[in-house]
Amino acid sequence: MLNSRKNGHDDQPLVFEIGSPGQWAASLSALDVPATNISNALPAELIAEQKPALPEVGELDIVRHFKRLAHKLFSVDENFYPLGSCTMKYNPRINERIAAMPAFSHLHPYQDDADVQGMLELLYRVRCDLAEIAGLAEVTLQPAAGAHGEMTALMIINAYYEDRGEKRSKVLAPDSAHGTNPASCAACGARFVPVRSRDDGRVDLDDLRAKVDDDTAALMITNPNTVGVFDGQIVDIADIVHAKGAQLYLDGANMNAILGITRPGDFGVDCMHFNTHKTFSTPHGGGGPGAGPVGVTEHLRKFLPVPQVIKRDDGTFGWANDRPASIGKVRSFFGQVGVLVRAYAYIRGLGRDGLLDVSENAVLAANYLAARLKHRFKLPFPPPYAHEFILVPEFEDHGVDENHIAKRLIDHGIHPPTMSWPIHHCLMIEPTETESPATLDRFADVMLAIADEIEKDPETVRTAPHTTPVARVDEVAANRNPNVRWRPE
Ligand SMILES: *Cc1c(COP(=O)(O)O)cnc(C)c1O
Repeated sequence: MLNSRKNGHDDQPLVFEIGSPGQWAASLSALDVPATNISNALPAELIAEQKPALPEVGELDIVRHFKRLAHKLFSVDENFYPLGSCTMKYNPRINERIAAMPAFSHLHPYQDDADVQGMLELLYRVRCDLAEIAGLAEVTLQPAAGAHGEMTALMIINAYYEDRGEKRSKVLAPDSAHGTNPASCAACGARFVPVRSRDDGRVDLDDLRAKVDDDTAALMITNPNTVGVFDGQIVDIADIVHAKGAQLYLDGANMNAILGITRPGDFGVDCMHFNTHKTFSTPHGGGGPGAGPVGVTEHLRKFLPVPQVIKRDDGTFGWANDRPASIGKVRSFFGQVGVLVRAYAYIRGLGRDGLLDVSENAVLAANYLAARLKHRFKLPFPPPYAHEFILVPEFEDHGVDENHIAKRLIDHGIHPPTMSWPIHHCLMIEPTETESPATLDRFADVMLAIADEIEKDPETVRTAPHTTPVARVDEVAANRNPNVRWRPE
C-alpha cells in the first residue's frame, strides 16, 4: 500500500522502474589482475541459478533519485514537530560534530582500557551527571532505550525482592501509562494492574491504596504524566507505595519539564529511566537510536548491571565487575555510547542554569499554546500544564475528528501531534523549548484557521492532506501487513 506510484499519486518512480539494462552507477578502473571464475571460487549451493533482478541505473539518475526522495522526508530540521511525549527538540549540531570526532567514533569496544581513557572518562562523567540530575545514588548507562530501561529497572526490583527472600508479582501503573510500561511488566513476568486517574488527570489515591499490597513490587509512574500535568501528590503517592514495602519507579520520559526544578530522588522515587534521546537531544524516531540509562537509590545499587564504568583511586578509568548481586549485563558491550556522547555534550554545553532554562521554556511554550487554543478546542485537563498538553477537538457535527485535523496540519508543513493517546479523540501537543515565539504563533494560527475551515468547508479538512505525494494510507493494513518490498512481477 506504500507503492505510491501504483496509486497514481506520485511522480517519483521506484528505483527498479528507472534506468535500462546495462546502465551502471560506478566507474571502475580496468582489471589488472587475472579474472576469477565465480563458480570456482564459491561453493555451488551459494550460487543462484538466476542473476538477481537489481536496478540498472546510471550514476546521475541514482543521485537524483535519492535526492528527490530525501526532499520528501519530514524532519525536525525542516519543520515544526509537536509530537507529544516524543520531545522532538532541535538537536544541536555541536553534539553531532563531537560524536563524529574520530577520537570517539573510531573506537572499538575490544580496545584496551588504557587506549580509551577519554571515552571512559566521558561515560563516567555522564553517569555521575545523570545521577545528580535524578537525585539518585547511581546510574547504569547500559539500556538502549526507555523501554529497555523499564525492563532493566524491573529486573533490578525483582532481584531486590529475591535477595530479601520475597516474591512479589504485581506492578501498578496509572491508566494513562505509556504502552511500554505494561509491555515491560509482561517481559519481566509481572502482573500489570492499572490504577485509576481522577478527572483532573492525577492519580486516584483511594484506588492506589486499594490496589497496593504485600504482593506489589512497584508502582510505575510518569510525572509529569502523559496527560501533561505534574501530579503534586507524588510525595503522598511515594508514602503509600513505601508503606507496603513496594518501590516507586519513575518513567522519566517527561524529564524535559522538570530539569533543575525538582529531582525524582527528592520526591520519593527509588528508580527511574531517562530517555536521553528525548530529554538530552539526539535525532530520533522510527525506532532509534536512543539510550535509556537507569538510576537507582542506595538500596538498589548492588543489583545494577555490570560492567560499570568507574574512576579508580589512581585517577584512571575502567570497568568494574565486582557486584555479585548484579542482574548481569543487559546490553552488548557498553551501551549506546554515541548517544551518550551527545547527551554529555548537551548537558555540559548547557550547564546547570541552561538545563533549568530548557525546562522553564518547554513548560512556558506548552502553556502559551494551550492558552491560545483554549477558546476553540476543549482542554480536558485543567491547566497549568507541564511541557505538553492534551486537546480534544469537538467537531463531530461537521464529521471531523482528531485524525482529520492532524492530516490537515501536514498541508501546513506541520508534523501531526500524537493522536488518540493517552485518551480517545485527543491530540497531544509538545512544542519543546527550542521553538521560537513566531513558530508557536504560526502553529496556533494554523490550528485556529483549521477550526474556521471545519465550519466553512469540512470536506477539505476531511480529505486532507492535499499536498503530499500520498494522500491517505490504510493505517491498520500498513501496520498489520506492511508491504514495503519491491518484487519482480
Ligand atoms: C517514549 C516513551 C517511552 C519509551 O521510550 P523509548 O525510548 O521509546 O523506548 C516510555 N514512556 C513514555 C511516557 C514515553 O514517552
